[in-house]
Amino acid sequence: MKRIVILGAAESGVGAAVLAKKKGFDVFVTDKGKIKPHYQEMLDKYGISWEQEQHTEDLVLNADEIIKSPGIPETAPMVEKVKAAGIPIISEIEFAGRYTHAKMVCITGSNGKTTTTSLIYHIFKKAGYDVGLAGNIGRSLALQVAEEPHEYYVIELSSFQLDNMYDFRANIAVLLNITPDHLDRYHHSMQEYTDSKMRILQNQTKDDAFVYWNDDPVIARELEKYHIESRMCPFSIIRKEGMIGYIADGEYVIERPTPFNMEQEALSLTGKHNMYNSLAAGIAADLSGISNDVIRESLSDFEGVEHRLEFVCKVHGVTFINDSKATNVDACWYALESMTQPTILILGGLDKGNDYNQIKELVQQKCKGLVYLGADNRTLHAFFDLLGLPTADTHSMKDCVAACYGMAKPGDTVLLSPCCASFDLFKNMEDRGEQFKTLARNL
Ligand code: ADP
Repeated sequence: MKRIVILGAAESGVGAAVLAKKKGFDVFVTDKGKIKPHYQEMLDKYGISWEQEQHTEDLVLNADEIIKSPGIPETAPMVEKVKAAGIPIISEIEFAGRYTHAKMVCITGSNGKTTTTSLIYHIFKKAGYDVGLAGNIGRSLALQVAEEPHEYYVIELSSFQLDNMYDFRANIAVLLNITPDHLDRYHHSMQEYTDSKMRILQNQTKDDAFVYWNDDPVIARELEKYHIESRMCPFSIIRKEGMIGYIADGEYVIERPTPFNMEQEALSLTGKHNMYNSLAAGIAADLSGISNDVIRESLSDFEGVEHRLEFVCKVHGVTFINDSKATNVDACWYALESMTQPTILILGGLDKGNDYNQIKELVQQKCKGLVYLGADNRTLHAFFDLLGLPTADTHSMKDCVAACYGMAKPGDTVLLSPCCASFDLFKNMEDRGEQFKTLARNL
């Protein structure tokens, strides 16, 4: 019997284990950390053997194939050993893809994945399609394939997931943008990270479609290197030759396959970045045969995703916006770009090697104050203090919100769009966003 060993026992690992067990493999799950009780119960329920807080080498290196959780880096000692032993490593999505003929709509990019994936899912649901939401959000693809198979899956794919995908084929591939992120996991090589994103195209045939942001210089350069068989569906914020979707004269337009248009004003998501996301989602839906009425209604009633440019509250004329998910500079750029009132920007946390020059001009244009929020704010002081704006140095959300409120006047906006990861002061970006929202609402 073929042996499959799964490294990492969270959503994707446990889902893969259940599917592998159902398909008759000899399955073993191992996690260097503690496995959540809920996942332990699930593994026991299916009679799958597992271990936690260690990797027993002998039980791993006798595998025929390894399924690795995307959270485990290639440089983890156990992964190095597996590679040295020549055992193939795949991702949960790759594995699950072998056991379904469902249509796959896959979304990747440096920013906007969750928003676009959720929006596409929302449209498909509204159209009454039998669809599952998977990848970085929702339940794992493998578990859904094992327990409640669907005809369509809308899948958010990170570069880490794409790294271990080989034969998987996206029927509709959406590539939103490529900007520097996670370079620490790619030997600080932008090209390596880019190659990983471009894997979304692999195995596509002429029956498939590739939806991408036409104006991204990195994507444009990469496309010159590839011979693409699938139907090319570029979109842009302006009308141009060859575009499938664009915004022109206040209208949101999709030209093909079914012509569609609606007023830009009626789109529920705001901000330039969300025009891209709405275009990508509308094109994917149009390609999937969803009616114009459903697309129109869904694009105008989508409620957005928490922690992404989320309106929190207005207190004495001061608007609070939570964009805690902005963990890189590009995301913050788009948040600032969409600000229409004088802005107090909260920046800081764990910096993944940020180049703040990218937002310097917008900070000068839009911000009336900066509040630094991190365990160590020295990099921020060194870069932003020179701009001469009022600043405050804080190390907790409580002090941060108080400082913002102290600086703000009616008609201002306080924007949490910190450019950094949250792990220095918070459990995760959700915790950071929740604390911000609670404190703002209690002012
Ligand atoms: P991801 O899943 O790729 O991290 P999200 O939808 O969660 O993307 O959004 C992450 C951050 O990026 C948020 O701060 C959001 O406002 C911003 N953002 C969303 N879409 C885009 C886009 N198309 N381009 C740039 N930034 C974006």
